[in-house]
Amino acid sequence: MFGIKINKAKQAATEPGIEQWMFREKVIMLYQNQTQSWLVSIFASAILAYLSLESNNGVAGFSWWAVFVAITLFRTWNTRRFCHFYKAGQVDDIRHWYNRFYVSTVMAGIAWGAGGFIIGIPLDAISQVFIFIVLIGVGAAAIPLLGVMQRIMLCFQAVSTIPYAIYISIMLGDRGTILLYMFVLYSIGVVASMRRMDLNLTESMKLQYENSQMVNTLSESNQQLQNANEKLETLTLEDALTGLHNRRYFEMQLEFEWKRESREKKVLTLMVIDIDYFKLYNDTYGHAEGDVCLKRVSHILESSLHRSTDVIARIGGEEFVVMLPNINIDGALTLAKQMQQQLHQAGLTHATSPLGDNVTVSIGIASVIPDDNATALGLFKAADKALYKAKTKGRNQVVIGEMDLT
Ligand code: GH3
Ligand code: MG
Ligand code: MG
Repeated sequence: MFGIKINKAKQAATEPGIEQWMFREKVIMLYQNQTQSWLVSIFASAILAYLSLESNNGVAGFSWWAVFVAITLFRTWNTRRFCHFYKAGQVDDIRHWYNRFYVSTVMAGIAWGAGGFIIGIPLDAISQVFIFIVLIGVGAAAIPLLGVMQRIMLCFQAVSTIPYAIYISIMLGDRGTILLYMFVLYSIGVVASMRRMDLNLTESMKLQYENSQMVNTLSESNQQLQNANEKLETLTLEDALTGLHNRRYFEMQLEFEWKRESREKKVLTLMVIDIDYFKLYNDTYGHAEGDVCLKRVSHILESSLHRSTDVIARIGGEEFVVMLPNINIDGALTLAKQMQQQLHQAGLTHATSPLGDNVTVSIGIASVIPDDNATALGLFKAADKALYKAKTKGRNQVVIGEMDLT
């Protein structure tokens, strides 16, 4: 059964759903990666702006910096908003958020590139190379932050570094050309390692997706199984050994009768019956004989009832309950005595019973006219307590219980 389900889950992993799911997850990762990135951006850009003072170009340099800080603040605000909506489960249009991220990141890239020119052009060659290194450093720092989305990462690198690299190679002659070659080699390395990173990520995300699909299918079939079991349980209302009703049926009937009697203001009586020294019986004759005895006792108790509304059920090992709608304590007491008498007449031998040679039962009775002051469970407990009293008083007797009314 599970084999089939797992194949289904694998199939699901190759369906278009997984592409959308991965895209969404990647955008979420992208945003979640950004939370501290503004610190690095503002710090690195401040170094560039500071360099502009070297060439008395401070106004242009710090104006650039102001624009750059504004873009960074916008990006940070955008990230915060996304995280806020994501936590609230309100990220519906993931493409929209992707586009916002894309555009604002490219803007930041352009700002970096422009900064290189604005601050670098009036400076000497050494400072220009230093700026180039800063730009490459920014690009390298962006790899772990933007790496999950290759397209955004490449665009950022392209606009932030490539124009300035070309400028340097033109302006610095041979030295610049060598720098450009080194930059190209470095870029190839970056692209290659990003591809590997993306492959690994995609692979592990696929596994995660398959896993979640499998968990879904499994919990679905578990639920189905549980439903089927519950259905089956409600279908079995009979005690397999004795053929009497079982506890479940009794509880259902009790609830039903409780409501009816409380509507009609009629009395409802319960009888709890327990075979005396039955463990001894089993010990003496064996469990199989014990079963036979249980069946016989069941039959005798059942045949003592004559009205169709009376219900008898086996609710435990050697314990029975009888529900008597519209029969008062006196009626029930008479019936209980009859049951004991018929059992005595049947003469089921119990040689080791301290009470005599035959199987006997103890009976507790409780009775009430159902109303809001009482519960069905309270009535049952009262009868059970009475049975306990019958046991402690010596067994083979009937005790009438008092109902606790609240
Ligand atoms: P007491 O008079 O206080 O009721 O003593 P007891 O021995 O009847 O009561 P106890 O609760 O000590 O033991 C009940 C015994 O009923 C123990 C268990 O082996 C037996 N029993 C429970 N269910 C079954 C059943 O389905 N078949 C058989 N043969 N015996 C059962
Ligand atoms: Mg018993
Ligand atoms: Mg018992």
